[in-house]
Amino acid sequence: MKIDDYPLASLMEITARPAVVFVRGEGSWLEDHAGRRYLDFVQGWAVNCLGHSPREIRDALALQAGLLVNCSPAFYNGPSARLAKLITDWSRLDRVFFANSGAEANEGAIKLARKWGEVNRRGAYEIITFEGAFHGRTLATMAASGKAGWDRLFEPKVPGFPKARLNDLDSVARLVTDRTVALMIEPIQGEAGVLPARAEFLRALRALATERGLLLILDEIQTGMGRTGTLFGFEQAGIAPDIITLGKGIGGGVPLAALAAKEAVCCFAHGDQGGTFNGNPLMAAVGCAVMEALTAPGFLERVRATGEHLRGGLTALARRRALGEVRGAGLLLALELGRDAGPAVVDAARERGLLINSPRPGCLRFMPALTVSEAEIDRMVAILEEAIAAV
Ligand SMILES: *Cc1c(COP(=O)(O)O)cnc(C)c1O
Repeated sequence: MKIDDYPLASLMEITARPAVVFVRGEGSWLEDHAGRRYLDFVQGWAVNCLGHSPREIRDALALQAGLLVNCSPAFYNGPSARLAKLITDWSRLDRVFFANSGAEANEGAIKLARKWGEVNRRGAYEIITFEGAFHGRTLATMAASGKAGWDRLFEPKVPGFPKARLNDLDSVARLVTDRTVALMIEPIQGEAGVLPARAEFLRALRALATERGLLLILDEIQTGMGRTGTLFGFEQAGIAPDIITLGKGIGGGVPLAALAAKEAVCCFAHGDQGGTFNGNPLMAAVGCAVMEALTAPGFLERVRATGEHLRGGLTALARRRALGEVRGAGLLLALELGRDAGPAVVDAARERGLLINSPRPGCLRFMPALTVSEAEIDRMVAILEEAIAAV
């Protein structure tokens, strides 16, 4: 096919997209309309944790599609109960609500915290979030986000999200008032450029929340599901959150998200929360297959090993080319370029058959399939070095 064979002009313009139409994917590889292959270190934005079109997802979809696709969330179905049990067993939280996107899961977490504040904290509703945070693109999650340039978009804003500074406990403590109901944070700020919350900072937030009677909400939409080398990012800080949200990797590529909470926090009354497609058996069956793959013996050890291999390759490249720091955890890493060459490097890499992402002009982000091989990592670093040299 030629690019002009696709009716692309009927799609609403929302972002700059390269003149490529992807038609097929397998593991760490994508193929475009012209049959050209690309090594994919974007993977649907840290979504395809098992790579493109893995056997586990194809089998789960085929089997469940032949049994039951949808029966409404007003009825129980087996796959959603099974996936909720897997999530509660592994996270040590007690109850799960399913959604279709990360933003919707975060909306649910915000609603749950506000409801809990209404019932238990005399109407406290403010949720302290962080500068640079990304929680989604609905009105409330945009207000909760601290993304530069978003503060004046789509006015009037949903109120109740004062912003603190990452890794600065005083900036959080200063904002706590009688109106505060929760603290909400990403273990690693992904969209801001892979900026980790320090483990001691997360522990201090947990202590502050406990002391002041607040909920600790962790947005694990990018850091969860094995991405950082443990099933959930919070495990590395050794803390127990009250609410977590999951998205991206939980469906391995299909639209699925969740929020999980401690029993004492689960205070929705009938009618407070819902959604037509939430917990539908087709997506939940995929979620079960993904969860089983990620928790299979040895899987996360391998993620940690390939994560170290990627970190080593990027660190050596940074040394050879006099670039900046490599940071992140597991298979969510960023490389500082030392100049605002990110978008140009992304384009030069794509021309050479490599897909990477530049969340900020000065840095690159790497979020390959959790099943990426060391040979694919070596190949990525080699192509990246050519692209950087060419820019
Ligand atoms: C991607 C992301 C979201 C939003 O998820 P969507 O599925 O795009 O709505 C929220 N929080 C974090 C940390 C994310 O990375």
